[in-house]
Amino acid sequence: MIPFFDLKKQYISIQSQIDNATRRVYASGWFILGPETEAFENEFAQYIGAQHCIGVNSGTDALHLAIRALGIGAGDEIITVPNTAVATVSAIEMAGATPVLCDVRADSMTLDADSFASVITERTRAVIPVHLFGQAAELDAIIGIARQYKLAVIEDCAQAHGAKYQGQRVGTFGDVACFSFYPTKNLGAYGDAGAIVTNDARLADKVKLLRQYGWRARYESEISGVNTRLDELQAALLRVKLGHLDAWNAARRERATMYTELLPNKRVHPPIEMPYAEHVFHLYVAQSEVRDYLAAFLKEREIGTAIQYPTPIHLQPAYQHLAPEGSLPVSEKLAREILSLPLYPELALSDVRAVADAIREFES
Ligand SMILES: *Cc1c(COP(=O)(O)O)cnc(C)c1O
Repeated sequence: MIPFFDLKKQYISIQSQIDNATRRVYASGWFILGPETEAFENEFAQYIGAQHCIGVNSGTDALHLAIRALGIGAGDEIITVPNTAVATVSAIEMAGATPVLCDVRADSMTLDADSFASVITERTRAVIPVHLFGQAAELDAIIGIARQYKLAVIEDCAQAHGAKYQGQRVGTFGDVACFSFYPTKNLGAYGDAGAIVTNDARLADKVKLLRQYGWRARYESEISGVNTRLDELQAALLRVKLGHLDAWNAARRERATMYTELLPNKRVHPPIEMPYAEHVFHLYVAQSEVRDYLAAFLKEREIGTAIQYPTPIHLQPAYQHLAPEGSLPVSEKLAREILSLPLYPELALSDVRAVADAIREFES
């Protein structure tokens, strides 16, 4: 049996470091916004290559605060894609703004700059390119258009910790970038956690205020804010895991390369790594016109697969008002054809071969 993923293996591989960090926090008697959070924020900013990092409670909250800190809200439109975690769209709505969807490219599966340009209106204030599955969107083209129309660029890096665009880590290209540390992400906490990264000191200051009731000093709200803090325990665990991130991403890339070399690429097509990208393979997403048969075939052989995401946002009940069916054809086709294969740093190479062998059997 080869499960789609297995988080227990990772814990076992770093158990003593994790257990020590946990005990350190328990013994400190300090649980919210303290030295571990501050240290993690500094270490993560340095890792990404940005000036500021502010820890928050989730990736969704990171997006929500980034949008609010940019002064975007009611009456404003923000453009993003329909093949993303619904969080990207719900964060836009949490901030009171209106989501507008554009299509994605068939090769990278990320935001299509031409489609983005075609849905800009007088009310558009920002674009959220999602670096989906671990690969950067076409940032030069997107940022070029955004600058032309004076739109803010909010990078959704929730699936792309450590991924690079033209040799530079994502999270440093837009005005602000948002990360999730949901347990299954490339850098995952043992609960909910997220962060905002930016080089803009004023924006960072505003996010910090928004994160805790608008307080600069305790019990005095300078602006109206919310409560979305990163806790000390998650920060301490994330510090441990950050030290392993590059090695884990390299292990993901090694396994992805193996899949791509071993798959016959007849009816099952491997994902494409764009020339500009260093992909970190949060997910290894193949495409096949006979996807449902393939998934059933692999399930019979006890190989776990998943579909991220089975229904584009505008075809889900809550969001059908955003765009009519048929209007975002690339995203809609992808939803019918994508299949994520098992991929995580601890996945045995023999299991990669076994999955590839099963797909070759399917192809023959
Ligand atoms: C996971 C994810 C989010 C949301 O992060 P949470 O921490 O679960 O709130 C946002 N965008 C994308 C692309 C994601 O994958």
